[in-house]
Amino acid sequence: MEVEKVNSILVRKYNTPAPRYTSYPTVPFWNNEIDIEQWKQVFKNKFEEQNPIAGISLYLHLPFCESLCTYCGCNKKITTNHKVEEEYLLAIEKEWVIYRRLMKQTPVIRELHIGGGTPTFFSPRNLQRLLNFILKSSIRHPRHEFSIEGHPNNTTREHLKMLYGLGFRRISYGVQDNDHEVQKIINRIQPFENVKAATETAREIGFTSVNFDLIYGLPLQTPESIERTINQTIELKPDRIAFYSYAHVPWTSRAQRLFDETHLPSPEKKILLYLKGKELLIKNGYIDIGMDHFALPTDELFLAWKEGRLHRNFMGYTTSSTKFLLGLGVSSISDTGNAFAQNNKSLHEYYEAVGENKLAIKKGFFLSEEDEAFRKYILDIICKGEVSFSSKHLPLLQQYSFPHLTQLEKDGLLELGNQRVTVTEQGHNFLRNICAAFDLHLQRHTKDGKNMFSQAI
Ligand code: SF4
Repeated sequence: MEVEKVNSILVRKYNTPAPRYTSYPTVPFWNNEIDIEQWKQVFKNKFEEQNPIAGISLYLHLPFCESLCTYCGCNKKITTNHKVEEEYLLAIEKEWVIYRRLMKQTPVIRELHIGGGTPTFFSPRNLQRLLNFILKSSIRHPRHEFSIEGHPNNTTREHLKMLYGLGFRRISYGVQDNDHEVQKIINRIQPFENVKAATETAREIGFTSVNFDLIYGLPLQTPESIERTINQTIELKPDRIAFYSYAHVPWTSRAQRLFDETHLPSPEKKILLYLKGKELLIKNGYIDIGMDHFALPTDELFLAWKEGRLHRNFMGYTTSSTKFLLGLGVSSISDTGNAFAQNNKSLHEYYEAVGENKLAIKKGFFLSEEDEAFRKYILDIICKGEVSFSSKHLPLLQQYSFPHLTQLEKDGLLELGNQRVTVTEQGHNFLRNICAAFDLHLQRHTKDGKNMFSQAI
């Protein structure tokens, strides 16, 4: 009870919108136009450097969904017309060919993740076709990690068998909430039996890591409904759980205007939903990795966290050691370590560019030396809970970061040592706030720093 009281006070204090730091600099600070020739050069150089060392990561974005979940903020296209699969496959295959021409060596794929949208919107046959197309001109890393996001309502045994055959061992199911009334209001009717069947089938076929995404802060959720959802989740023992905070941004996610805002829990109630869920997960053997993620001690994510090998990119936390991510598909983001590029979010414009044998990049960012150093600081906070700074950055840190770090230290969220920050147990719930102190773009942009603090949990 005491812990809940302390958390509530701090969460109220630090509860304003802020990034999840899946990139640094974060997307709002990227340039709306980037020099594509410069991007190609950076891509080629980094690929040649990284491919022989650790291989590369590949992300495939498949944007279609059959129905609209009203809470959703993802880049998706709603349709029940499966004829769209063919046109999309042709485009993404073409995009791969364009990038493949920039690679002087055969790419070694260490990590491959398929996200969406609903990747299992695509038939097993079409998914297999796409994967074979890419894999036939690549080398599979001996310790490759292939994963996919699955919808419990339409992930079939055929999907799972085909994916397993191609080397997939991890699947993340979007569960969100098991309560029927909550499901009705978010327009995602998904009986628990479907979640159970999808989980059991994946395990039976041989998937070794089944992950669930859950959300707290949805309309009509109560501590009792969250308790039921978490208890049912625990029954199925997913290896990892991402327990995300619902972000209500109806000005950018139009679908969120479809439900009555009075059904949303107040900030105080939302905190209780999180604390209830977290308490149950921890009581049942899950470890809080940080930034909304929980894992069983047997899961690779936990082991990577313990051994300081955790990494974070656009897919969230990963165990991968690659520093080079190629994203294919509409709205996908690529990350070479020193540059980002995001594809066009408009399907029409994506098709048009790729159809003309051009990259479909819309925006991006080339990192300076300072950006690369502060990106590392932010990654160390998120992935390891501690960071040491170089003395050459002390003037910048003193100007922008220390005023916030000192305040965070007073609130018991971190320990500030000699050129070092260590996150406390309490601070684990406020990683975004701590990272924001190192976000020089945000700090320079926000004169008084008041808007830097985020919706922490
Ligand atoms: S939540 Fe998932 S399934 Fe629902 S609309 Fe968004 S991307 Fe599609």
